Amino acid sequence: MAELLINKKRFENNLDIITTHLKDKNKLGIVLKDNAYGHGLEEIASLAKEYGIKSVFVKNIQEAYKIQNLFEHITLFYGIPNTPLPANIHPTIHSLEQIDLLPQNSKVELKINTGMNRNGIMPTQLKDAITKILHNKHDLVGVFMHNGYGDDLMQDFDNAQNLFQLLKKEVLYLAQNIGFQKPRFHSLNSSATLRSLEIDDDLVRIGIAAYGYCTANFPLEASKNLQPIASLWADRIRTHHLPKGAKIGYSGVSILEKESEVSTYDIGYGDGLFRFDETKIPYYSADGYLVLQRTSMDCISVLSTKDRICIFDDVTKLAEIFHTIPHEILTRLSPFIKKTIIYE
Ligand SMILES: *Cc1c(COP(=O)(O)O)cnc(C)c1O
Repeated sequence: MAELLINKKRFENNLDIITTHLKDKNKLGIVLKDNAYGHGLEEIASLAKEYGIKSVFVKNIQEAYKIQNLFEHITLFYGIPNTPLPANIHPTIHSLEQIDLLPQNSKVELKINTGMNRNGIMPTQLKDAITKILHNKHDLVGVFMHNGYGDDLMQDFDNAQNLFQLLKKEVLYLAQNIGFQKPRFHSLNSSATLRSLEIDDDLVRIGIAAYGYCTANFPLEASKNLQPIASLWADRIRTHHLPKGAKIGYSGVSILEKESEVSTYDIGYGDGLFRFDETKIPYYSADGYLVLQRTSMDCISVLSTKDRICIFDDVTKLAEIFHTIPHEILTRLSPFIKKTIIYE
């Protein structure tokens, strides 16, 4: 049965790298959204908890409830629940209207749009939003923004950070004047964190770097020792001994150049592994076996006789082949793939 092995040492190595960079372990928040980027929400949450992480970020309320007992702060980026929430679960407010939809006494985080123009209230709505939050008897746990330029050496990166600095001042001013507790501030994802030398926020939101990748498109010294934590393995279904010229799989796209042993393995695009077809450059498993095009929904044919092969131990190559980023290769992995934590 296909299996995703999660390497605990590597995960800790990645978090150590970020902690060293932050100089303060308490500022380390981990993003566990989308089934922990395909790695298994419960598995990664347990490792994060063991590491001492107190704040995590998930996609929605379903994910939050799955790890409800593990963290002091669990923020959901999306969805406005209409039932009362445990005190450690924080919905994100993206608009003034959402404030009225939440059950009273919710402990919320407020997101501000600082230039990505995607989610969050507009900076000019800050005072109105906070007034409304307090009026509805919610607690303002955090105020945050998302810098969409962490991977790029563009002025927009600094513009967003500078704007957030001003907004933080405004929040502190309102806190004093209206009388509410200072919320926590956060704005930086993986690459934005690793490129920032001074971090004045209370918290960072580390996603992809915890899983071992950095997608900055400029050299980033602090990221060079990150290690991918997941390797995907598949088991042999059966082997055929086939003559030269034999065709393999749908439409017979692969034709054997010589007599060969061809085995099928139990992973396919139905498990979230992207589909290899004749338009793609050839892919070799991490242990060096050629994957024959086209791959099927639940199995792939490989020039190998091994009982188990390693489909990947680093998805960088797959991301290149499919013109995407490691995030997409990983988050597509089916939640049904078995996850096992390994210790070295
Ligand atoms: C996904 C996400 C992150 C993490 O981004 P990485 O680049 O994976 O570190 C941080 N903040 C928000 C709002 C996100 O949606």
